[in-house]
Amino acid sequence: MRTDVLGVGFDSLTMEQAVTQALEEIAARSGRYIVTPNPEIVWLCRKDKALGQIIGQAALVLPDGVGITLGAKILGRPLAARLPGIDFVANLLAEMARRGQSVFLYGAKPGVAEQAGESLLIRYPGLKLVGTADGYSDDQPTIAAIRAAEPDMLLVCLGAPRQEQWMARHGASLDVGLMAGLGGVLDVFSGSVKRAPKIFQKLGLEWFYRLCKEPRRIGRMMRLPLFLFAVIGQRIRRK
Ligand code: UDP
Repeated sequence: MRTDVLGVGFDSLTMEQAVTQALEEIAARSGRYIVTPNPEIVWLCRKDKALGQIIGQAALVLPDGVGITLGAKILGRPLAARLPGIDFVANLLAEMARRGQSVFLYGAKPGVAEQAGESLLIRYPGLKLVGTADGYSDDQPTIAAIRAAEPDMLLVCLGAPRQEQWMARHGASLDVGLMAGLGGVLDVFSGSVKRAPKIFQKLGLEWFYRLCKEPRRIGRMMRLPLFLFAVIGQRIRRK
Protein backbone atom coordinates (compact mmCIF):
# COMPACT_ATOMS: atom_id res chain seq x y z
CA MET A 1 0.00 0.00 0.00
CA ARG A 2 1.34 3.40 -0.99
CA THR A 3 0.92 6.53 1.09
CA ASP A 4 -1.37 8.98 -0.66
CA VAL A 5 -0.20 12.60 -0.77
CA LEU A 6 -2.68 14.66 -2.84
CA GLY A 7 -3.48 11.74 -5.09
CA VAL A 8 0.07 10.48 -5.65
CA GLY A 9 1.00 7.26 -3.84
CA PHE A 10 4.49 7.16 -2.29
CA ASP A 11 6.43 4.10 -1.14
CA SER A 12 7.39 4.30 2.51
CA LEU A 13 10.85 2.75 2.49
CA THR A 14 14.23 3.20 4.11
CA MET A 15 17.18 3.85 1.81
CA GLU A 16 18.33 0.25 2.23
CA GLN A 17 14.92 -1.16 1.36
CA ALA A 18 14.62 1.08 -1.71
CA VAL A 19 18.07 0.03 -2.96
CA THR A 20 17.30 -3.66 -2.32
CA GLN A 21 14.06 -3.43 -4.27
CA ALA A 22 15.81 -1.67 -7.15
CA LEU A 23 18.48 -4.40 -7.24
CA GLU A 24 15.71 -7.01 -7.41
CA GLU A 25 14.11 -5.22 -10.36
CA ILE A 26 17.50 -5.14 -12.10
CA ALA A 27 18.10 -8.83 -11.39
CA ALA A 28 14.67 -9.65 -12.85
CA ARG A 29 15.37 -7.26 -15.78
CA SER A 30 11.86 -5.95 -15.27
CA GLY A 31 12.45 -2.95 -17.57
CA ARG A 32 10.31 -0.86 -15.20
CA TYR A 33 11.05 2.65 -13.96
CA ILE A 34 11.52 4.55 -10.71
CA VAL A 35 10.25 8.08 -10.12
CA THR A 36 11.10 10.56 -7.38
CA PRO A 37 8.32 13.18 -7.45
CA ASN A 38 8.64 16.50 -5.63
CA PRO A 39 5.67 18.73 -4.66
CA GLU A 40 5.71 20.39 -8.09
CA ILE A 41 5.09 17.07 -9.82
CA VAL A 42 2.37 16.09 -7.37
CA TRP A 43 0.77 19.42 -8.17
CA LEU A 44 1.03 18.77 -11.92
CA CYS A 45 -0.58 15.33 -11.49
CA ARG A 46 -3.73 16.96 -10.12
CA LYS A 47 -4.32 18.53 -13.53
CA ASP A 48 -2.61 15.98 -15.74
CA LYS A 49 -4.27 12.60 -15.12
CA ALA A 50 -2.09 10.87 -17.71
CA LEU A 51 0.99 11.97 -15.76
CA GLY A 52 -0.64 10.68 -12.57
CA GLN A 53 -1.04 7.26 -14.22
CA ILE A 54 2.55 7.25 -15.40
CA ILE A 55 3.74 7.96 -11.84
CA GLY A 56 1.36 5.33 -10.42
CA GLN A 57 2.76 2.62 -12.71
CA ALA A 58 6.33 3.12 -11.50
CA ALA A 59 8.11 0.25 -9.75
CA LEU A 60 9.05 2.67 -6.96
CA VAL A 61 7.71 6.13 -6.13
CA LEU A 62 10.25 7.75 -3.82
CA PRO A 63 9.75 10.99 -1.88
CA ASP A 64 12.32 13.47 -3.17
CA GLY A 65 12.40 16.56 -1.02
CA VAL A 66 11.17 17.80 2.27
CA GLY A 67 7.80 19.02 0.90
CA ILE A 68 6.57 15.46 0.38
CA THR A 69 7.69 14.09 3.75
CA LEU A 70 6.23 17.15 5.49
CA GLY A 71 2.98 16.68 3.54
CA ALA A 72 2.79 13.01 4.61
CA LYS A 73 3.40 14.03 8.23
CA ILE A 74 0.63 16.63 8.09
CA LEU A 75 -1.65 13.86 6.80
CA GLY A 76 -0.75 11.74 9.83
CA ARG A 77 0.95 9.08 7.67
CA PRO A 78 4.66 9.78 8.00
CA LEU A 79 6.92 8.12 5.44
CA ALA A 80 9.86 5.95 6.54
CA ALA A 81 12.42 8.35 5.06
CA ARG A 82 13.05 11.20 2.68
CA LEU A 83 14.93 9.73 -0.27
CA PRO A 84 16.44 12.40 -2.51
CA GLY A 85 16.90 10.93 -5.98
CA ILE A 86 20.60 11.76 -6.01
CA ASP A 87 21.30 9.97 -2.70
CA PHE A 88 19.23 7.00 -3.78
CA VAL A 89 21.04 6.60 -7.09
CA ALA A 90 24.45 7.08 -5.46
CA ASN A 91 23.69 4.19 -3.08
CA LEU A 92 22.30 2.08 -5.90
CA LEU A 93 25.33 2.67 -8.14
CA ALA A 94 27.64 1.69 -5.27
CA GLU A 95 25.84 -1.67 -4.98
CA MET A 96 25.76 -2.12 -8.76
CA ALA A 97 29.52 -1.50 -8.88
CA ARG A 98 30.03 -4.37 -6.41
CA ARG A 99 28.11 -6.60 -8.79
CA GLY A 100 29.92 -5.36 -11.91
CA GLN A 101 26.66 -4.10 -13.40
CA SER A 102 26.27 -1.57 -16.18
CA VAL A 103 24.76 1.88 -16.50
CA PHE A 104 23.76 4.16 -19.38
CA LEU A 105 23.52 7.92 -18.70
CA TYR A 106 20.95 9.89 -20.69
CA GLY A 107 20.25 13.61 -20.36
CA ALA A 108 21.68 17.07 -19.64
CA LYS A 109 23.66 19.32 -21.97
CA PRO A 110 26.13 17.85 -24.48
CA GLY A 111 29.28 16.62 -22.73
CA VAL A 112 27.76 16.51 -19.24
CA ALA A 113 26.79 12.82 -19.26
CA GLU A 114 30.32 11.81 -20.41
CA GLN A 115 31.87 13.87 -17.63
CA ALA A 116 29.44 12.46 -15.10
CA GLY A 117 30.34 8.98 -16.34
CA GLU A 118 34.06 9.61 -15.86
CA SER A 119 33.59 10.71 -12.29
CA LEU A 120 31.20 7.84 -11.50
CA LEU A 121 33.76 5.30 -12.73
CA ILE A 122 36.34 6.80 -10.37
CA ARG A 123 33.88 6.92 -7.48
CA TYR A 124 32.48 3.42 -8.02
CA PRO A 125 35.20 1.09 -9.32
CA GLY A 126 33.64 -2.00 -10.88
CA LEU A 127 30.73 -0.07 -12.39
CA LYS A 128 30.44 -0.46 -16.16
CA LEU A 129 29.56 2.57 -18.26
CA VAL A 130 27.96 1.29 -21.47
CA GLY A 131 26.84 4.58 -23.01
CA THR A 132 25.95 8.24 -22.67
CA ALA A 133 23.67 10.61 -24.59
CA ASP A 134 22.76 14.25 -24.14
CA GLY A 135 19.19 15.31 -23.53
CA TYR A 136 18.84 17.86 -26.31
CA SER A 137 19.42 15.91 -29.52
CA ASP A 138 16.94 13.83 -31.48
CA ASP A 139 16.03 10.85 -29.29
CA GLN A 140 15.86 8.18 -32.04
CA PRO A 141 19.66 7.66 -32.22
CA THR A 142 19.69 7.62 -28.42
CA ILE A 143 17.03 4.92 -28.33
CA ALA A 144 19.06 2.87 -30.81
CA ALA A 145 22.20 3.32 -28.68
CA ILE A 146 20.37 2.22 -25.52
CA ARG A 147 18.95 -0.84 -27.30
CA ALA A 148 22.42 -1.81 -28.45
CA ALA A 149 23.98 -1.25 -25.01
CA GLU A 150 21.39 -3.30 -23.05
CA PRO A 151 22.29 -1.60 -19.75
CA ASP A 152 21.34 -2.95 -16.33
CA MET A 153 20.33 0.56 -15.35
CA LEU A 154 19.34 3.59 -17.43
CA LEU A 155 19.38 7.03 -15.80
CA VAL A 156 16.95 9.36 -17.60
CA CYS A 157 17.77 12.93 -16.65
CA LEU A 158 15.60 15.19 -18.80
CA GLY A 159 13.82 17.08 -16.01
CA ALA A 160 10.31 16.33 -14.80
CA PRO A 161 7.80 15.55 -16.21
CA ARG A 162 9.61 14.97 -19.52
CA GLN A 163 11.71 12.11 -18.20
CA GLU A 164 8.68 10.30 -16.71
CA GLN A 165 6.76 10.66 -19.98
CA TRP A 166 9.80 9.48 -21.92
CA MET A 167 10.24 6.35 -19.78
CA ALA A 168 6.55 5.45 -20.01
CA ARG A 169 6.56 5.93 -23.77
CA HIS A 170 9.80 4.25 -24.75
CA GLY A 171 10.59 1.93 -21.84
CA ALA A 172 8.82 -1.12 -23.25
CA SER A 173 10.82 -0.96 -26.49
CA LEU A 174 14.19 -0.89 -24.72
CA ASP A 175 16.13 -3.82 -23.32
CA VAL A 176 17.10 -2.45 -19.89
CA GLY A 177 17.10 -3.86 -16.38
CA LEU A 178 15.59 -0.80 -14.78
CA MET A 179 15.25 2.96 -15.39
CA ALA A 180 15.00 5.98 -13.12
CA GLY A 181 14.02 9.59 -13.81
CA LEU A 182 16.48 11.75 -11.93
CA GLY A 183 16.29 15.40 -13.04
CA GLY A 184 19.55 17.27 -12.63
CA VAL A 185 21.74 14.50 -11.13
CA LEU A 186 24.11 14.31 -14.13
CA ASP A 187 24.87 18.01 -13.67
CA VAL A 188 25.88 17.26 -10.08
CA PHE A 189 27.82 14.05 -10.84
CA SER A 190 29.71 15.85 -13.61
CA GLY A 191 30.67 18.66 -11.25
CA SER A 192 28.97 21.34 -13.36
CA VAL A 193 26.46 22.05 -10.58
CA LYS A 194 27.47 21.96 -6.93
CA ARG A 195 25.23 20.33 -4.38
CA ALA A 196 24.24 22.23 -1.24
CA PRO A 197 26.61 21.89 1.73
CA LYS A 198 25.88 18.87 3.98
CA ILE A 199 24.24 20.98 6.67
CA PHE A 200 21.59 22.21 4.20
CA GLN A 201 21.00 18.61 3.10
CA LYS A 202 20.61 17.39 6.70
CA LEU A 203 18.15 20.14 7.58
CA GLY A 204 16.09 19.48 4.45
CA LEU A 205 16.98 22.96 3.15
CA GLU A 206 18.63 21.94 -0.11
CA TRP A 207 15.80 23.65 -2.00
CA PHE A 208 16.68 26.93 -0.23
CA TYR A 209 20.32 26.69 -1.25
CA ARG A 210 19.28 26.01 -4.85
CA LEU A 211 16.92 28.96 -4.75
CA CYS A 212 19.74 31.29 -3.64
CA LYS A 213 21.96 29.96 -6.45
CA GLU A 214 19.24 30.04 -9.10
CA PRO A 215 16.72 32.75 -8.12
CA ARG A 216 14.72 32.09 -11.31
CA ARG A 217 13.39 28.97 -9.59
CA ILE A 218 11.25 31.16 -7.31
CA GLY A 219 8.20 30.92 -9.59
CA ARG A 220 8.31 27.11 -9.39
CA MET A 221 8.95 27.12 -5.66
CA MET A 222 6.02 29.38 -4.88
CA ARG A 223 3.90 26.32 -5.58
CA LEU A 224 5.18 24.73 -2.36
CA PRO A 225 2.95 26.79 -0.02
CA LEU A 226 0.00 26.03 -2.32
CA PHE A 227 0.88 22.36 -2.12
CA LEU A 228 0.97 22.43 1.69
CA PHE A 229 -2.38 24.26 1.88
CA ALA A 230 -3.90 21.58 -0.33
CA VAL A 231 -2.42 18.86 1.92
CA ILE A 232 -4.03 20.51 4.95
CA GLY A 233 -7.28 20.54 2.94
CA GLN A 234 -6.91 16.80 2.27
CA ARG A 235 -6.42 16.19 6.00
CA ILE A 236 -9.48 18.24 6.98
CA ARG A 237 -11.70 16.53 4.40
CA ARG A 238 -10.69 13.12 5.72
CA LYS A 239 -11.74 13.90 9.29
N1 UDP B 1 17.32 18.63 -19.72
C1 UDP B 1 17.53 17.84 -20.84
N2 UDP B 1 16.77 18.05 -21.95
C2 UDP B 1 15.79 19.00 -22.00
C3 UDP B 1 15.56 19.77 -20.84
C4 UDP B 1 16.34 19.55 -19.71
O1 UDP B 1 18.41 16.97 -20.83
O2 UDP B 1 15.15 19.13 -23.03
C5 UDP B 1 18.16 18.41 -18.54
C6 UDP B 1 18.84 19.65 -18.00
O3 UDP B 1 20.02 19.92 -18.73
C7 UDP B 1 19.12 19.24 -16.58
C8 UDP B 1 17.92 18.33 -16.25
O4 UDP B 1 17.35 17.97 -17.49
O5 UDP B 1 20.29 18.49 -16.52
C9 UDP B 1 16.84 19.02 -15.43
O6 UDP B 1 17.35 19.36 -14.23
P1 UDP B 1 16.46 20.02 -13.09
O7 UDP B 1 17.30 20.04 -11.88
O8 UDP B 1 15.84 21.29 -13.57
O9 UDP B 1 15.36 18.88 -12.92
P2 UDP B 1 13.87 18.99 -12.44
O10 UDP B 1 13.93 19.69 -11.10
O11 UDP B 1 13.13 19.79 -13.49
O12 UDP B 1 13.43 17.57 -12.38
